[in-house]
Amino acid sequence: MLKAALCGNPNCGKTTLYNRLTGQRQPVGNWAGVTVDKAEGVLRTAGGELLLLDLPGVYSLSAFSMEEEAARRILLEEEPAVLINIVDGTNLERNLYLSLQLLELRRPMVIAVNMMDEIQRQGGKLDCALLGKALGVPVLPVSARSGEGVEALCAAVFRLARQGKTPPAPVYDPAAGGALREIGRLIDGACRTLHYPALFYAARLLGGEKAAARELGLPAGTADKIEEISKRCAAPFGGNQAALLAGARYRLIDAAVDRALQRGSRRREWSERIDALLLHRLLALPIFLGMMGAVFSLTFGPVGRTLKGGLEALTAWTGDFALRRLAAAGAPGWIQSLLTDAVIGGVGGVLAFLPQILLLFLFLSLLEDSGYMARAAFMMDRLLRGLGLSGKSFIPMLMGFGCTTPAIMATRALDNERDRQLTILLLPFMSCGARLPIYALFSSVFFPGREGITVFSMYLLGMAVAVLCGLCLKKATLHQEDALFLMELPPYRIPTLNNTLLHMWEKGKGFLWKAGTVIFSMNVVLWLLQHLTPGLQPVQDPSESLFGAFGRLISPLLRPLGFGEWQPAVALLAGLIAKESVVSTLSMLYGAANMEALSAAIASHFTPLSALSFMTFCLLYMPCISAFVTLCRELGSIRKGILAAWFQTGVAYAVSFLVYSFGLLSSLNR
Ligand code: GDP
Ligand code: MG
Repeated sequence: MLKAALCGNPNCGKTTLYNRLTGQRQPVGNWAGVTVDKAEGVLRTAGGELLLLDLPGVYSLSAFSMEEEAARRILLEEEPAVLINIVDGTNLERNLYLSLQLLELRRPMVIAVNMMDEIQRQGGKLDCALLGKALGVPVLPVSARSGEGVEALCAAVFRLARQGKTPPAPVYDPAAGGALREIGRLIDGACRTLHYPALFYAARLLGGEKAAARELGLPAGTADKIEEISKRCAAPFGGNQAALLAGARYRLIDAAVDRALQRGSRRREWSERIDALLLHRLLALPIFLGMMGAVFSLTFGPVGRTLKGGLEALTAWTGDFALRRLAAAGAPGWIQSLLTDAVIGGVGGVLAFLPQILLLFLFLSLLEDSGYMARAAFMMDRLLRGLGLSGKSFIPMLMGFGCTTPAIMATRALDNERDRQLTILLLPFMSCGARLPIYALFSSVFFPGREGITVFSMYLLGMAVAVLCGLCLKKATLHQEDALFLMELPPYRIPTLNNTLLHMWEKGKGFLWKAGTVIFSMNVVLWLLQHLTPGLQPVQDPSESLFGAFGRLISPLLRPLGFGEWQPAVALLAGLIAKESVVSTLSMLYGAANMEALSAAIASHFTPLSALSFMTFCLLYMPCISAFVTLCRELGSIRKGILAAWFQTGVAYAVSFLVYSFGLLSSLNR
């Protein structure tokens, strides 16, 4: 089947158009960087069928960011027969920059000018035929959201796919054009084995992009000659190579747009007025904090808690019902216990978070679709940039206080792979809600009257550790090619119900799937570890179990941290299933029937100092299994995930050790 590739800037409506053309339901967002993976679908019309690829949104085809790299690779490997270049009509000049780069690929191409409805609303007028003549390719108006013009676009795409008509190369002014021809002659031989013309590579080389030389495998001598040509041609432009070509491209674009577009007077008036308030120098931060506070208190406060309680009651009832049925049928005790602990307690306990996850993503999707999230990121950018993170990592970090798993998934909105990996690595240091019971228990036993400040300092400690690690890792990775940082504010748009529900469903589906597969099987395995001896006999006393043996094996390692008995070691292991289970495991292992007995047991097994050290370790050590699985998937490899877990646990060990030894030293000095 012939292939067509849909390419365009971030947020120009690519996915909306793609969904329209293929009948799929890929998530749409008013935010740069929503489409990270390539999506494929079949475009069917009366004329025939085409395989349609939705590429990540990019501003150019250089190799500076993860998306640009991916988009270029797909274009090179898939060799689409037709390029469908979708451009945002309300932002023509910037969007056409990519179009020129695509034209340099010399492939059959059509330009679809999207958001025609917005141009009209702004009172503007675009002559697509004139624009097409200036650029040498068919230019068609569409409104992806309403579907206007999409049929005509399909027809044009099929016509092009059949004819395979190559558009002319863009004609730049003599300075840039001459430089491109000179470089083109030097690399002509190297390009012959590749699928794209010398012009495409010459332009990237002239722009100073080192990756292009690597791709071509140029000998050092040629690379030097190219460098020389670029320097000579760029001399009249202040020696700035990138400016030479970019200037030529924008002059070409400006000339074409000037003739074809009559600008409306009501340009983005609305967005500007809202921004005057929401990005106000003094009000912006309070508004943002208020908005986030509202989202999180709705999600994790009364509304979310009620929904969570409802679901918990439902699973408890279902579990009870199943248990009674099993007991009546005379099922053995261990089956009943497995069902209670592993399925009802374990999977049910995780499922109880579903309403909160859905709720959080509902709110975030509304904020994102409306265009507000991009503003929030814009504000936080300066704060986080000192850390070597981009402003967008702020949103996932904030979500990390709720639950690490969705927060890690939220890092997909980050443009730059390095920022994303760093954010994923540091995210688990944000204390998630599941760790709260641990702090609550220990601070009530050892720091009565000061519980609030104790718990709060754990949260602060987590942030401080993330900041410090961020600074260190930034130093370590600074040698990489730095991304050109472009933060742009999309216009405000009214979120569509369809898209909001779709976002929510996508998140919920993934979560349900994980609870039913990974978490369920982990629970069964851990239940067995807790209930069988190393000789695989059922246990009476948990200390004889496989888990107990495990605990005794690691507990010596934990002795320098102040909690070297086997019970805390086992509790920490159990905490890997879910951090909540640290408390329940301790309770079970100390044979405590109620909260009072548990407090007494904790008081006799810990000191205030070892309690502090234990809380610190719980705060920082590797996240629970579900977060770990997500972390591996988002980092792209299990090896990287395991490295990250080692790193986090190592940091936990070091900081707990520091807390414990400083405490010991200062008590000795007293
Ligand atoms: P992508 O990042 O290029 O994939 O863009 P999306 O398809 O995610 O769309 C970005 C935003 O533009 C979303 O809020 C869409 O609802 C909106 N959008 C897409 N097409 C149109 C259109 O034709 N008119 C208007 N007014 N908005 C559109
Ligand atoms: Mg998209």
